[in-house]
Amino acid sequence: MDPDPADPADPDPEPGLGPIDPDGALFTYDPPGELPGFDYRNNVNVANRSGFGWAGSDELPRDFVFAPGLTWPLDGPGYAHTQVYRPGGSESGVGGAGGSGECDARNFDYPWEDNFCEHRGTATRNLFCPNNARGHHVGQDIRPQQCTRNFPLENRQMAVAVTDGYISSVASMTVRLRGVDGRIYWYMHLEHWDDCNLAALSTPAQCNAANLPSVCSRSALEVEPGQDGRAGDPIGRVSNWFGVGWSNGACRRSMTTDHLHFEIRDTIDPDGSFTASTIPVPPYTSLVTAYLRYIGADEDDFPDWEEAEF
Ligand SMILES: [Zn+2]
Repeated sequence: MDPDPADPADPDPEPGLGPIDPDGALFTYDPPGELPGFDYRNNVNVANRSGFGWAGSDELPRDFVFAPGLTWPLDGPGYAHTQVYRPGGSESGVGGAGGSGECDARNFDYPWEDNFCEHRGTATRNLFCPNNARGHHVGQDIRPQQCTRNFPLENRQMAVAVTDGYISSVASMTVRLRGVDGRIYWYMHLEHWDDCNLAALSTPAQCNAANLPSVCSRSALEVEPGQDGRAGDPIGRVSNWFGVGWSNGACRRSMTTDHLHFEIRDTIDPDGSFTASTIPVPPYTSLVTAYLRYIGADEDDFPDWEEAEF
């Protein structure tokens, strides 16, 4: 949702890793806190507020790969970036990102950035974010290969399953995949419905995502709850879907920017202890290793990161 620039917690992170940029990799990637000129305690350069990130613990270092062996979740290249503090984002002005809106080329280019624990105006707490405080982003935002917000549905980029598993639920803007590895993977903002007559939802009470099946011709997703699938199977199209909302006297499509919000949920806390219910864990390192495999990088160039066992 909307980030709250007036709410900068003042995290006191552990020292970060050095820059990681293996020779031979086809892209560069920036762990949180390692961006040029970045200073955790000085938010003057607010654009770099994306990615306070997971600071690491004795048990789980910052470069820990929580979900090793994932398939890259898109059927083409993609760009891990904050979708709010860069061009076209709701906080692009705060960061001085400028640009020409969300289709600005800088949103579709390397290097990647980690935006787990980015400041947001949410009530979300997360044990992996500074002080377990509220107001953090607990996934990774990923731009598709190109700006596709005005493309027809069938031409937008497909999100795919990161592992074998089954679709454990489909909510108003989230598809959840329960992997055979026991983790749950959240895909948000995929296009959920196609060919909708929103005007038929003529009161604020009717303007609810639960009523969309009655006014849309078909699901835009490739999956249904309970469906089994394999890694790489299509799930749905990357979009700016944010459900529907009543505004200016009509039921309208609510929108974020065009991106995939991806989360990994696991029963592990920062001490490496078991948690009774799944919580969002830092996804960035898992996505980097998935992407290195996707682009065919030499295994010798993979970072020597510790991986979770399961
Ligand atoms: Zn997000």
